[in-house]
Amino acid sequence: MGVVGLAVMGSNLARNLASREGNTVAVFNRSREKTDHLLQAHPEAGFVAAFSYEEFAAALTTPRTAIIMVKAGRGTDAVIDELVRVFEPGDIIVDGGNALFSDTIRREKAVRETGINFVGMGVSGGEEGALLGPSLMPGGSDESWVTLGPILRSIAAIAEGEPCVTHVGRDGAGHFVKMIHNGIEYADMQLIAEAYDLIRRGTGKSPAEIADVFAEWNRGELESYLIEITAEVLRQSDAATGRPLVDVIVDQAGAKGTGAWTVQTALDLGVPVSGIAEAVFARSLSSHPEQRAAAAGLPGPAEDAVGTSVTDPDAFIEQVRLALYASKIVAYSQGFDAIRAGAAQYGWQIDLGAVSRIWRGGCIIRAQFLNRIADAYADAADLSVLLSAPYFVEALGRAQDSWRSIVATAATAGIPAPAFSSSLAYYDGLRAPRLPAALIQGQRDFFGAHTYRRIDQDGTFHTLWSGDR
Ligand code: NAP
Repeated sequence: MGVVGLAVMGSNLARNLASREGNTVAVFNRSREKTDHLLQAHPEAGFVAAFSYEEFAAALTTPRTAIIMVKAGRGTDAVIDELVRVFEPGDIIVDGGNALFSDTIRREKAVRETGINFVGMGVSGGEEGALLGPSLMPGGSDESWVTLGPILRSIAAIAEGEPCVTHVGRDGAGHFVKMIHNGIEYADMQLIAEAYDLIRRGTGKSPAEIADVFAEWNRGELESYLIEITAEVLRQSDAATGRPLVDVIVDQAGAKGTGAWTVQTALDLGVPVSGIAEAVFARSLSSHPEQRAAAAGLPGPAEDAVGTSVTDPDAFIEQVRLALYASKIVAYSQGFDAIRAGAAQYGWQIDLGAVSRIWRGGCIIRAQFLNRIADAYADAADLSVLLSAPYFVEALGRAQDSWRSIVATAATAGIPAPAFSSSLAYYDGLRAPRLPAALIQGQRDFFGAHTYRRIDQDGTFHTLWSGDR
């Protein structure tokens, strides 16, 4: 098989493929330098280098299989056009880049008309995952999965004996699920950052001391790659100044767009992914230094206000841990809800339990916790909302007092905790026996005659409000 695009992800995926018994991998890159560099750096891989699309196609045995790992967008279309030109019906083109799922739906339809199979595949785990075993989320036809399945299983991460790959669904399903994975990743990272901020300002602990807290948390129900690396990041000191590295990094978070895609898509589907949305917006807020400077003088509690209210630091830290866990359950529940809604909208049969299992290894959100999600869907595949599964009901019940207390403390002390707060508001909104949405329906009927339904009669109703006269 072959790989097109030999930047960090493509090179590592090609090396991963080549390291499997019996595989010979053809490699191609638009500009020659990356190919030469890869061949020189890794002679042990036995790559077959191609320097044109014709050579690349000729190097592959039929039916050909090629994985594209190029910058998502126009580059992907350019490479697909070239591969379609040199490939034949029955061959398989896999796009492993971070494509928008709607682009994948469009590309799959166009390529299918040529008789060539097109598979959009989410790849998670960054460069290390690509080399050592990523979590793979392929979409595409059942026919391509027959050929691709064994190859992908051989290079994917292994979690509890299972390869982290499943055929997610047709056309854009794989990229859709990868997009939601990234959205959940945004929420998870924001929640961890809020927990760190609260502990630091609430207890006065240093980043290195908070690293110990995270390392301890990583031995319990929060065990995950993101908690593990958070401890590492907080423990790192800056070689130039000797200060904690986290204190010399500019506090403006970057983003490449998949979080925003998740929120935009969820808005279209009408699914409240409020935790993910707050995480995306928190990054945007951080990245407006001019607005932050202009607002710096706004009135609010003093910087150290929380410190004076925390009398038992260990108890406070435990409350933060529980608030983090509860908010995390909400973020994942919202993410899986978005997958369910996407599957219904686009006609995909997505096994949510299988999705949670393939995220247990290789990817950025890998976590012990995903086993609980897999269990929940094993018990009830048609679960309407993940956090209503018995395990999560128990966990949320255990956490909720601490969660409320931490959100209240953050609000009182003027510490921004948007993901903690919005997750709690979502939780309370979902469990409320009655919502003020009834009033909104009344308002809508008042100004726009939008009608409303009644609790005691079928049909739709309109009231002759005084404003109608
Ligand atoms: P990248 O910086 O996103 O892309 C660079 C590669 O794209 C180069 O090989 C470049 O070729 C090629 N390229 C760009 N435009 C092209 C065009 N018009 N025609 C042909 N080739 C073109 O590389 P990356 O970080 O390795 O990521 C590759 C893909 O994996 C991306 O879609 C990315 O979103 C996705 N991904 C990345 C990560 C990660 O952690 N980095 C994780 C998961 C998925 P030249 O050398 O000729 O410029």
